[in-house]
Parts: sequence; structure tokens; C-alpha cells
Amino acid sequence: MESRISGHTKLYCLIGSPVGHSGSPAMYNYSFARTGMDAAYLAFDIPLEQTAEGVAALKTLGVGGFNVTMPDKTAVAGIVDELSPAAKLIGACNTVTVGEDGRLTGHNTDGVGFVRNLREHGVEVRGQKLVVLGAGGAATAICVQAALDGAAEIAIFNRKDEFYPNGEHTVEKLSQAVPACKASIAPLEDRAALEQAVAGCDILVNATKVGMKPLDSETLIDPAWFRPGLVAADTVYNPRETRMIREAQAAGCKAAIGGIGMLLWQGVAAFQLFTGKEMPAQEVLEKFFS
Ligand code: NAD
Repeated sequence: MESRISGHTKLYCLIGSPVGHSGSPAMYNYSFARTGMDAAYLAFDIPLEQTAEGVAALKTLGVGGFNVTMPDKTAVAGIVDELSPAAKLIGACNTVTVGEDGRLTGHNTDGVGFVRNLREHGVEVRGQKLVVLGAGGAATAICVQAALDGAAEIAIFNRKDEFYPNGEHTVEKLSQAVPACKASIAPLEDRAALEQAVAGCDILVNATKVGMKPLDSETLIDPAWFRPGLVAADTVYNPRETRMIREAQAAGCKAAIGGIGMLLWQGVAAFQLFTGKEMPAQEVLEKFFS
């Protein structure tokens, strides 16, 4: 690293709180080195109440771009000069690019990463019916990107918690902005409606915390609902294979796709936005995500 840092080295970074556990610095610094870029990536712990100051400081320092993690994603979307169409609909951004003139553009690569991960497994969302479990940040990004990429129907199921109104808001936004995609929401507690929706969909997505440690022994889906024509996809990547994914595989589903690829491909999309270059995805996957 020392031999790579010069007086011209461009700085990129992650902001959010906490950031200490993040794998992003290792992934980006490796990719900068492999693509011959004079650039370095650091992580800065910026609590929510200091988001505006933090972003102003990054602007002053002339960073090349930055990623944003929780809890700053929504606040940053309200600060940047412009938003990509997806980030605008999602209302949150995880990647900010800096133009020649210093203008900040907010993007959201979570949904892009999810859709790309499906594609890498031979699954396209265009024309498909999705059931999405969840109405938080990841679910919203997935619903918006899938709708923008031509999904025919998106049925959201969420428990009646504080995220439910967010799901209703997503349905309203999609109905306005992407009317060709039929969006709906129903309570997760309505198991009969969920069973029926799963029976009629092409792609089932878990974008809740169920399946993630410490909820790793749980699943929201009755394994009897799986069938060979169904694609099951999880956002959870810790553990790599959730109970839902294991049960979908065992039931012979067309594809059972874990969440680690979404994490990789959202990073690849951000790297492309920052540098215009392809991250060495396969190497990064083997080195940092296996
Ligand atoms: P969030 O806090 O914004 O939303 C949490 C969601 O989980 C809500 O819909 C909530 O209702 C639901 N939920 C929580 N506990 C539940 C329970 N016991 N039963 C039913 N529903 C429950 O979180 P988020 O950022 O949207 O993350 C959601 C999941 O997506 C997490 O598992 C996270 O690891 C994963 N994720 C993965 C990636 C990736 O790159 N693979 C990126 C972001 C998030």
C-alpha cells in the first residue's frame, strides 16, 4: 500500500456508523491495485447527526466518491445535488459520485447488485412475478430496481411493524413511477395470502432479517410451498446459506440464490460508477467473500 500512495492519490471512502467491521476497504484497495489506479479507500465513522458535516468535509477534501452505509443512507440522499432515478425512488443512496464541478450525485447499487446476482445465476427479472418478503432498506431497493428492470408484478409481504408503512409507500411510488409493474402489499401474518402469492410467482425473495444470525434457525416460508419452477433468493449472506435457501435447494427449486452475490455485485456497480472500470469480481469473490 505505502508504495502506491503518492501526492496525487485519489481518496474514496465509506461513511456510516459503525464501519469498523466493513469489508469495503479491503475490497476496493485490492481492486484499485489490480486495475492500476492511483487511489485509496478508507472508512470513516460518521454518526447520523454529523452526516451533513461529514459530507461537507469530504467535498472540501476533494474525494473521488464515497459509499454510504447505515444509518446515513437516507440523510445523504437529502444532501446530494442530484439523485439517480433509482435512488430518487428508493429515497436512500449507498454510493455518491463527485463530478468535475464538485457536484454530488447519489446512486443506489443495492437493487442493481441483487438483479445482477440473479442474472449471474441465469435468472432475469423482466416480465417476472416477484414476491418480496420485507419492506426495509434492502427490500425497497430490490422492489424499485426490479420494477425499473421490467418485473411484471411485485407482491410485498411484511409483518405489521414499523416498516409496513414504508412498504405501502413503496407500492404508491411504484404505481406512480412504474405503472406497468403491478405492486401490492399484504401483511406477512396472512399466511394463506402468502401461500397463494408464492404459488403464483416466479421469484421469491427474502429481504428481512429472518435467516440472518441470530435468527439463522428461522424461515418465513413453509418448505412444502417450494416447487421446481420457483426461484428462491435471499439477501442474507451471514450465514452464506440460510435455512430458506437450503430448503429451496432440497425441494428442487429452479435456483436457490444466497445474498453474498448481491453484496459483491453492488460493490462492482459502485466501483464502475467511481472509476469507469470493472472490478476484478471473480478474484474479489474468491479473496474476500469465500
Ligand atoms: P431494515 O432494518 O431496513 O429492514 C428489516 C426488515 O426485516 C423489515 O422488513 C422488518 O419488518 C423485517 N424483519 C425483521 N425481523 C423480522 C422478523 N422476526 N420476522 C419478519 N420480518 C422481520 O434492514 P435491511 O437493511 O433492509 O436488511 C434486511 C436484510 O437484507 C438483512 O438480512 C440484511 O443482511 C440483508 N441485506 C443484504 C445486502 C446484501 O448486499 N446482500 C444488503 C443490504 C441488506
